[in-house]
Amino acid sequence: MLKISFLGGLGEFGRNMTIYESDGYCLIVDCGMMFPEADTFGVDRVIPDFQYILERKETQKFALLLTHAHEDHIGAVPFLLKQIDVPVFSSPFAYGLLEKKIVEMELDFPDFTDISKLEKINYGPFSIETVFVTHSIPEAYSVSLQCEDGRFLHSSDFKFDQTPLDAKITDYSKLQKIGSEGVTAILIDSTNAETSGIAGSEKGVFKNMEKYISSFKKRLIVTLFSTNIQRIQGVLSLAEKYDKKVAFLGRSLIGNIEVAERLGHLKYPPNVVIKADDIERMEDGEVVVIATGSQGEPFSALSRIAFDEMKELSIEKGDLVLFSARMIPGNEKRIGKIINQVYRKGGRVITPKDDPSVHVSGHASQEELKLMASWAKAKYYIPIHGEFRQLKENAELAKELGYEEENILINEVGDTLVFEKGKFLRKEKFPAGMVWLDGESGDPVGKLLLRDRRHLGNEGFVLPVVVVNSNEGCFEGEPEIIHRGYPPFESQPDLLDEIKRSIKGLEKELTKAELSDQNIVKARVKSSVKKSLKRREAKIPVVIPVVMEV
Ligand SMILES: [Zn+2]
Ligand SMILES: [Zn+2]
Repeated sequence: MLKISFLGGLGEFGRNMTIYESDGYCLIVDCGMMFPEADTFGVDRVIPDFQYILERKETQKFALLLTHAHEDHIGAVPFLLKQIDVPVFSSPFAYGLLEKKIVEMELDFPDFTDISKLEKINYGPFSIETVFVTHSIPEAYSVSLQCEDGRFLHSSDFKFDQTPLDAKITDYSKLQKIGSEGVTAILIDSTNAETSGIAGSEKGVFKNMEKYISSFKKRLIVTLFSTNIQRIQGVLSLAEKYDKKVAFLGRSLIGNIEVAERLGHLKYPPNVVIKADDIERMEDGEVVVIATGSQGEPFSALSRIAFDEMKELSIEKGDLVLFSARMIPGNEKRIGKIINQVYRKGGRVITPKDDPSVHVSGHASQEELKLMASWAKAKYYIPIHGEFRQLKENAELAKELGYEEENILINEVGDTLVFEKGKFLRKEKFPAGMVWLDGESGDPVGKLLLRDRRHLGNEGFVLPVVVVNSNEGCFEGEPEIIHRGYPPFESQPDLLDEIKRSIKGLEKELTKAELSDQNIVKARVKSSVKKSLKRREAKIPVVIPVVMEV
């Protein structure tokens, strides 16, 4: 009997995690994190609920296999390792990035097996084979898991790029070999199932980037995903060709580059790269800056550059900012804020909307999905990695490929499929909620809604309302406090005024840039209310800051 349990990545974008289980052995494929939607009370990451694993850790064996190093596949691994010691099968690049997280969180290193070196890996009843695939990160793999009940091909994230900059193309012959040996089910990437045609090649971006790098007048700032090593290589190669210098800004970027260089994924002459401190000393038209922050993250390099909070660089008249990444839905507002700020300071911005060839997706479009499926020739088609709509679109593709409806299985987080005697059966759902991590401490904040409801019932709530004038960098009028069911306001009539005063005080403490960031203002208002209440030794109610902008 083979069991597949889905702990994340379905009906949502991020925190991919699937468990394949047979004969007491559980192989966890990926363990990623997800960014929460806006306004989640200081939560900045969401990870899968590990209860399923923790409940079974005494009776079953567990191992973790990582298909590649994107955050939606490895971002939650340290939190898993904190709770259970599991061996890790992965490529050196994914493990290199994971190592940095492990060091940061002061955890023990797990037992590591390099999957790029081995033809086959045996784990309990599983015989595991990896297939190199092209994707927007080095060392990405599809995996074939074979056991007594059948063979399961987990595509993970892939596309078919014939001309990647590193010339490493998908191992097509291995895919075909696996397909010809017989595949029971394919679990296949749905990210771009709605997009017709093919994803396009990294080479196209490289060619298009040439016109910007050869001709910018002041400084060129390229923002991209810090794991997109090929794209970084492209910028470095073009910089070398046109005698420009490159500087890197952003902590995660510098860490990833270090790992990529060590593993031979980045090659450039040492004199192409300059230190961030030297940017200001360079001539106009000489420096290309690669910076993190393509999603408008508030503390990223690009955001700090735009809002004058980076000592090495701020935007000047004539600077060009190139967004070489897709805008993940939900981040539009934050990104828009940065773009406006760049223009305010006299710079100019190019996004994929202005010039589609500054970015290409790392995920398969419809024709590539069809190709993968027709090589795998699987009996069952299981869409993974996508929001519900994308899973559905992927299922539609399967129908076009001739799959019968009963052989296409759409799942949700918490679903378990059992494959026995040649058939899939659906088992009862298991508890698989979201675990929210606090933005400040990184600790799980539990089932937030439940906690808040309980809290509301016991202690009532306080709703501080402030209106921010972000142009002037000040509060508009006095803060207002709305409250329900909170006794200390009855017994200590001056408490309300004290809270208002302490909120008002934030106006001076926060910089103009901070005042224009709703998340920062909310967090500070909340902590200032809590501090005032703590001083009076009052019980802490649910505090929900409301920040409005004029
Ligand atoms: Zn990926
Ligand atoms: Zn992914």
